[in-house]
Amino acid sequence: MASADSIFPKIPCCRCADHSRFWDRIAGKTYCPNCLEGLAMGEGDPLVAKTDRRHCAVCHHLGTVRYVTFPLNSRRPVEVELCPEHLRAIVARRLGPHAFEQLRRQLESLGLEAAEVFLLHEAFYDEQGRALQPAVEW
Ligand SMILES: [Zn+2]
Ligand SMILES: [Zn+2]
Repeated sequence: MASADSIFPKIPCCRCADHSRFWDRIAGKTYCPNCLEGLAMGEGDPLVAKTDRRHCAVCHHLGTVRYVTFPLNSRRPVEVELCPEHLRAIVARRLGPHAFEQLRRQLESLGLEAAEVFLLHEAFYDEQGRALQPAVEW
């Protein structure tokens, strides 16, 4: 979790410039839900990001991209390091049940519920972590 005193200005979506809310950030770029969906569908420019030498929160693979999300009603974002494979999976809402469970447990240890995190929202996954609405088949 980001430190409590870090300041996160509202940054408009890097694609459509919508700035009505705090949007998720991937590798330092801001995406509104619509544009994230587009990203998952392969519309527009693909996401190109340099990976950091950190370990994926799901599979511990070395080489990750940072996904930053604001839990519901919170201005304090959660930062998740994800390898390219799991980043794609989370954006396309195709995390496997095991990966979902990994993230759910880590969020729980921060006092958060998966349902408060946009891309892990219960509209997309059931309690067992099965995807209800994959954004797209990969
Ligand atoms: Zn947008
Ligand atoms: Zn991974």
